[in-house]
Amino acid sequence: MSSGIFHRGPALAGPQASGDTLESLHQQAHACERCDLYRNATQVVFGEGPMDAPVVMVGEQPGDKEDVAGRPFVGPAGHKLDVCLAEAGIDRSRCYLTNAVKHFKFEERAKRRLHAKPNSGEIQRCAYWLAAELRLIQPRLVVAMGATALTSLLGRNVRVTRDRGKLFATPSGFPVLVTVHPSFLLRLPDPEEARREQSRFVEDLKKALPFFPAP
Ligand code: SF4
Repeated sequence: MSSGIFHRGPALAGPQASGDTLESLHQQAHACERCDLYRNATQVVFGEGPMDAPVVMVGEQPGDKEDVAGRPFVGPAGHKLDVCLAEAGIDRSRCYLTNAVKHFKFEERAKRRLHAKPNSGEIQRCAYWLAAELRLIQPRLVVAMGATALTSLLGRNVRVTRDRGKLFATPSGFPVLVTVHPSFLLRLPDPEEARREQSRFVEDLKKALPFFPAP
């Protein structure tokens, strides 16, 4: 790791996990009206993966494809993540994949639903669910992919560009590794830069390898 220091972020509020399972949390989230994003989205998109996952990967919010499928990371960014995880030697099925915000936020233009960035209030309200997921799973490492995940987990004092590759910690003590969101790689117009940034992302992901117990 480029930093052995665990910096502390803000507390995440969330429901008590006692008696809860990931499935019961998912069911509860279907009825969530903590912010307005439930109004226009198709459905809640909860995290997915094993309850004993050593590593939890957190993205921003579901995209158009995820909103329809009801599953996280099944669209273009998810496919890019799959490629990069494989390059890093990480088995996706051993990770729990989720988003900081569980409903798709979008703007409609010419009948297309275009991604809209969640605001700080929406991120803060949905941190309730992310906190509950972490409390149940008790991961060895959380990978924060992009600014929204970082804000949810650690507040606004941590920056992707400045702190990428470093380890921080939530107040509950979960180590958090900072990196970019895979959708960033899809937006780079220059192929050479895209290749270079993909390699950097894979190197970031490799830092998660020591947190997986031997199979
Ligand atoms: S985005 Fe999160 S907080 Fe807002 S309604 Fe959906 S599940 Fe609830």
